[in-house]
Amino acid sequence: MAQFRLKALEEVLNREPAEFVREDNLVSNYYGKLVFDETKMKKYLSKEAFSAVMDATKHGTTIDRKMADQIAQGMKAWALENGATHYTHWFHPLTDATAEKHDAFIVHGEKGSVVEAFSGSLLAQQEPDASSFPSGGIRQTFEARGYTAWDPTSPAFISETTLTIPTIFISYTGEALDYKTPLLRALHVVDKAATAVCQYFDKNVASVQANLGWEQEYFLIDEALYMARPDLILCGRTLMGHSSSKDQQLDDHYFSSIPTRVNRFMQDVENEAYKLGIPVKTRHNEVAPNQFELAPIFEEANLANDHNQLIMDIMQKIARRHKFRILYHEKPFQGINGSGKHNNWSLSTNTGVNLYSPGKNPKSNLLFLTFVINTLQAVYDNQDLLRASIYNAQNQHRLGANEAPPSILSVFLGTEISKMLDLMEEAVSDKKMTPDEKTALKLNIGRIPEIILDSTDRNRTSPFAFTGNRFEFRAVGSSANCASALIVLNTVMANQLNKFKTKVDALIEKGTKKDEAIFQVLKEIIINTKNIRFNGDGYSAEWVKEAAARGLSNINNVPEALSAYMRPEYQKMFDELGVFNKSELHGRVEVEYEKFLKKIQIESRVLADLAINHIVPTAVHYQTTLLENIKNMKEVFSADEFEELAGARKNLVREIGGHISAIKAKRTEMIEARKKANIIEDTIEKAKAYDETVLPFLPDIRYHIDKLELIVDNELWPLPKYRELLFVR
Ligand code: ADP
Ligand code: MG
Repeated sequence: MAQFRLKALEEVLNREPAEFVREDNLVSNYYGKLVFDETKMKKYLSKEAFSAVMDATKHGTTIDRKMADQIAQGMKAWALENGATHYTHWFHPLTDATAEKHDAFIVHGEKGSVVEAFSGSLLAQQEPDASSFPSGGIRQTFEARGYTAWDPTSPAFISETTLTIPTIFISYTGEALDYKTPLLRALHVVDKAATAVCQYFDKNVASVQANLGWEQEYFLIDEALYMARPDLILCGRTLMGHSSSKDQQLDDHYFSSIPTRVNRFMQDVENEAYKLGIPVKTRHNEVAPNQFELAPIFEEANLANDHNQLIMDIMQKIARRHKFRILYHEKPFQGINGSGKHNNWSLSTNTGVNLYSPGKNPKSNLLFLTFVINTLQAVYDNQDLLRASIYNAQNQHRLGANEAPPSILSVFLGTEISKMLDLMEEAVSDKKMTPDEKTALKLNIGRIPEIILDSTDRNRTSPFAFTGNRFEFRAVGSSANCASALIVLNTVMANQLNKFKTKVDALIEKGTKKDEAIFQVLKEIIINTKNIRFNGDGYSAEWVKEAAARGLSNINNVPEALSAYMRPEYQKMFDELGVFNKSELHGRVEVEYEKFLKKIQIESRVLADLAINHIVPTAVHYQTTLLENIKNMKEVFSADEFEELAGARKNLVREIGGHISAIKAKRTEMIEARKKANIIEDTIEKAKAYDETVLPFLPDIRYHIDKLELIVDNELWPLPKYRELLFVR
């Protein structure tokens, strides 16, 4: 076994950077080459078919079957010309991956021949066998039917030789079984709510879109070393491993020069991304050794999320070409930084205004402040829901672990915006504001832009930070489908904007002037939401205390975090806004609990196996060597000398024996705990049992294994060590 580890190390040392050929030196020459985008649609579709797609994209109108047929013909022609042989409906089920089933374009022709065919109905809707996708009981297996339906707002593309059509995935009865359906619904409600508020300021605003710029963090591990770690293969994270004497203490990895092999991999990824119209822009080394980040230019949220899911898949494939394996797990290694996926989020109007960008005059700044201040209330009222949207088995290891924000939601605004809000709070004294005061306030508001636009006080420790022209939701995990967070974020924002508008309208109705009414309601919110604002160090122990004093919630376990979804007021909100009906929400939460408990179950099994057939035999082997050595010493030395010389060795034998016994005993106890948990019928109770009675054994058993790793002869140790996984390349 140890040879396997040593052989793997040797293999890594002999690696050459993989070759790859860039499509063209100028990205603009091939960007979007494999996407059925506007330019191609114009070429391959009739005028009416083209406008049908454009209307659907921009105004959400439906495309009828006749038109869909025309579009399918155009799409097929383009796809065949570009080397596609198959087509697929691509969707985001509630698993950790996307799903696709490829069908060849061929149908029977005359005299035993085949011809390539594709129709509007195949483009618009399909019925994959849905019984194996999680639904949380929405779809009983006897009515396993689920449909995928074309999402014309995200363009089709060619992946290898398959025309890939982004779709939603719904049950026979129309309930969402995926991430995309509720995301589209949430984006729709935030559009409506934000547009209505924008109309106070500008009647030309007809729609508002949400934007997303994700920052994908990941680890790269050499393939040979990865293959020698069953825990990485099966769980995506190391369940054992003593920390390396050197890891990230010297901060020498962040932004340092990118190793050639990794650089080749990144270029290869970018090359593929550009062909698929994914605007990736930034690449760099992250804080932890072998940790990296990739970020694109932001896009409309639904498209950006499709692109994130797509690139995660592509990166996995390309990593193999370069003899790497990619880890998206939020905490693959204990003791060093884990990986997140910051979600940079903003709202912008059809008139080209970013609602989170301070404008040039008082009026546009009031619009800006309206959105910032309403965001405060939305986050304040929905802390638990936002947390639930990002909490899972993996991310719980990362949040609060000294490198990532704790499980407390707070909002960082920076000093300038905070000053503005304080000013508004003081100045706007209901109806008693003098014209002079108003002017003063407006002037002050009018002064923000320059300061903020080059704002440098960027707080890295906040889970939800204003960063100049957007909010950055940083608690999202690296393996997540961003939709989970975006569904909640956009829904709670829509809900808040609706409430805001109701209040402002009521004041206007009573005769208050519009600007004044807006000021008053904003002031009220500023006063109400002070507790959610925090510009200090979110990683500090003092903050945990202070947050508790402020009444902010701090939940550190998955079952409790997820339970927020079931709170009556939240269920009501989702239902009323049409994002999730009750059965959809229940189903979804059930799936989350199930994913959680199954992941713990798998980790517990893998650890039990590795402990008993990798670690214990190795430790026994070394112990035997020591015992023989002691016996030999006894023969050679006099009794006195022997006592003096063999003492330490005997202790080592005892120490090893102690760890072996502890591992065996705890392993047995853990298996018992699992058995007990497994007979619980109710998923939520079962998840709780896994959390409370099985999960704690993992660090417990690990402790003893990691101690053994330090004691046992290096030559014998079977699993690549942290210092090798993270530094040998
Ligand atoms: P940092 O690491 O400093 O946060 P990055 O450049 O890595 O910055 O990532 C910032 C992300 O935010 C990019 O994807 C960028 O396109 C995105 N972004 C910039 N402005 C906006 C905006 N108005 N709305 C949404 N995302 C934005
Ligand atoms: Mg960021």
